[in-house]
Amino acid sequence: MIQTTMQHGDLLISGLVEYSRRVFPEAKVVTWTGEGARELSFAEVGDQGAQLANALTKLGVEAGDRVATFMWNNNEHQALYAGVPSMGAVLHTLNLRLSPEQAVFIINHADDKVIFVDASVAPMLSAYLAGTPNVQHVVVTNGPAEAVTAPDHITVHTYDDLIAGEPTTYDWPALDENTAAVMCYTSGTTGDPKGVVYSHRSIYLHSLLGTSTTGLGLSNRDSVLAIVPMFHVMSWGLPYAAMMAGATMVMPDRFLQPEPLLAMMAELRPTLAAAVPTIWQGVSALLDAKPQDITHLREVVVGGAAVPPSMIKKFDGYGVPIVHAWGMTETSPLGTIARPPAGVDDEEKAFAYRVTQGRFPAPVAARIIGDNGEQMPWDGVAHGELEVAGPWITGAYFQPEANVTDPSKFDDGWLRTGDVATITPDGYMTIVDRAKDMIKTGGEWISSVELENVIASNPAIVEATVIGVPDAKWDERPFVLAVVRSEDDADVEAHRKFLEERIPRWQVPERWSFVTEVPKTSVGKFDKKRVRQHYADGDYTVIGDPQG
Ligand code: AMP
Repeated sequence: MIQTTMQHGDLLISGLVEYSRRVFPEAKVVTWTGEGARELSFAEVGDQGAQLANALTKLGVEAGDRVATFMWNNNEHQALYAGVPSMGAVLHTLNLRLSPEQAVFIINHADDKVIFVDASVAPMLSAYLAGTPNVQHVVVTNGPAEAVTAPDHITVHTYDDLIAGEPTTYDWPALDENTAAVMCYTSGTTGDPKGVVYSHRSIYLHSLLGTSTTGLGLSNRDSVLAIVPMFHVMSWGLPYAAMMAGATMVMPDRFLQPEPLLAMMAELRPTLAAAVPTIWQGVSALLDAKPQDITHLREVVVGGAAVPPSMIKKFDGYGVPIVHAWGMTETSPLGTIARPPAGVDDEEKAFAYRVTQGRFPAPVAARIIGDNGEQMPWDGVAHGELEVAGPWITGAYFQPEANVTDPSKFDDGWLRTGDVATITPDGYMTIVDRAKDMIKTGGEWISSVELENVIASNPAIVEATVIGVPDAKWDERPFVLAVVRSEDDADVEAHRKFLEERIPRWQVPERWSFVTEVPKTSVGKFDKKRVRQHYADGDYTVIGDPQG
């Protein structure tokens, strides 16, 4: 056995902050204001990060303390991403779209000491503060202190006053790279939300994937429109990958509707954009009504839910390739990225790879586990629950006393994803469904996701989700909840005919309901739990012959 001659360098966020402020003075964060944009250079992000660390130290924040944000994607949020973990505290990004009960539970569970809040959402936070006795300070960003109403034990500050006069340097501590840096709770649809705590090391390694060409290929020439919220899995790691690459970040703040998104694209001409499919659905509908050149985008990264193949085709039509990726809060989140293999020049063959969730990067190990606990082959056909492991995959869920590795969630060190998948011999993973969303009808399985994709490929459909519902004859049958283009399109027979030409007849749903909007989760995915509840409560007008 010989010893390595290599040095050990802890992979720290403070390293990224100092690197980006020195090496990429031209890169910046640009936040949309509704009319134009306000900018912060990476040097200023570093300055504000240090000012925040100095101010928070004065407030009594110590190593390991949780500092939360209740904020949109904007300049101040980026400075908090830089400063809070670098000083050794833990940045806790609170999801703006949680129910009040969940938000209060999460603030108390994480034991947040300080909360930074955007003035535009301050009334929402104010309503939670009576139930969060351990919060000591609230700091209002982008507005006056009066935006918050807080109980007496909480001191309210404004961001600008808090950092005013503070030094723009901070003696960053030499942390162990495995120190907790950022935490985020899953938007789980059952039980209490579960906390995942990222380390400096996991974030740093994950950022390297963001800058690698097998990942997102971020470089100093890029400008990234980060639509995916900074409160949802760190905006897919973009804020940190951007610091590493010197890429400019374009932040939409609270302007997440298709119109402002297209306005900011026209003015700021980002080269890359990232969001869940529902956002692109809206953007696409507006693009069709009001055409606009978006070819300044070299790629659009889409994940968080399956991208319908029809959406990929649609964006090809705009001259912008969609890159499909899969991940979870538990996986930092980049777990797979779909780039066709070398040598596949034929468009149709390449398309077959692009619609998959993609290949795992080297640090992410994967396996699929069958019903009896056996490992299934990578043959592109056999499916089972996807399990993953690696340096940016969580190995437990956060508990204040001792983190838990509940066997229903972890299997001998592997994370059980709850996703059912196939993997081809050359490593392309396809999510067949969430395990609990698969529909078993007459003993045969239907993937609700595959069915949704075919339904959505009908131009008459704006959006549609499918759940399994009880059926006297077949145990379960698919039920479609759809939004259609116009009243004339609320025609079940026409939709069934469309499907009969494309999928086996036994899979064609009988039960349909047309609504103005499909319920969505806090992060913009179809909320099947609520759809199930509404269905069970008889809230939908179901059209179609159940025995058809
Ligand atoms: P979250 O932790 O809220 O980001 O949710 C993670 C879950 O979203 C995964 O376990 C998948 O079920 C789903 N998901 C994420 N990306 C994709 C994708 N590209 N295709 C299908 N499902 C996805």
